[in-house]
Amino acid sequence: MISRVHHLNCGTLRPLGAPSMVCHVLLLETDAGLVLVDTGLGLADITAPAARLTGGLARVIRPDFAPVETAAAQVEALGFDRSDVTHIVATHLDSDHTGGIDDFPGATVHTTATELQSARGTRGIPAAVRYRPWRRSNEPAVTAYDMFRADWFGFAAAYLKPLGDDALLVPLPGHTPGHAGVAVRSGDGWLLHCGDAFYHRAAVFGGPVPASLRAGQFISATGRREARATRDRLAETFADGAGSVRLVCAHDPVMFAEAALGNIER
Ligand SMILES: [Zn+2]
Repeated sequence: MISRVHHLNCGTLRPLGAPSMVCHVLLLETDAGLVLVDTGLGLADITAPAARLTGGLARVIRPDFAPVETAAAQVEALGFDRSDVTHIVATHLDSDHTGGIDDFPGATVHTTATELQSARGTRGIPAAVRYRPWRRSNEPAVTAYDMFRADWFGFAAAYLKPLGDDALLVPLPGHTPGHAGVAVRSGDGWLLHCGDAFYHRAAVFGGPVPASLRAGQFISATGRREARATRDRLAETFADGAGSVRLVCAHDPVMFAEAALGNIER
């Protein structure tokens, strides 16, 4: 059971020519211990950025590299111990979502089997850059999901094993092959962390998306048609507020601020 949901910004990014972004992380207080949804950047990214965010990535996303923003620091600031984090659910294994995993060596990571395979095996420079911290770290204990038999608002999904029927992994492919959203029961409804399925709220809820973010979304997607279909499907299903499902994504600072203002959802 999930008793509390905290919204944490675990990495302010200031890409040139684009609005500032956040790395929106959820910290769930549950019967099974603390659970993180994504980690944002971690301590190693701050101490050794050149080794971790390679291929000029740090110069593109331009993180603040503030230790106080790491999930490790924020978990401790909330009065917990890092070892209280028992599970980490990753929307995908890109470096800005997994950089903090090394800071919680006792936690089991949950991801899709497709994403795990992609991070382990994909050849080529883009994959080497985006998955670098994952590949260079000692791989943690992983639970990989390849059966999505549950139906969650019409999306195929898998219940996350430690959280009973309170949370699901919902494949939202396109940004990476095994990219997934994470649905979390929250109050009377649901919260869906959409990861990098979109960068800006207008991509789903309508209105202009800044050109820089549209371009970023396009460039970073491994499957562009798939990514567009995922965004369209999220819009069709949730844009009118259906099903009391609240959407957040990883990098939109306005969505983060709105969610964090309502901090802490029950
Ligand atoms: Zn990202």
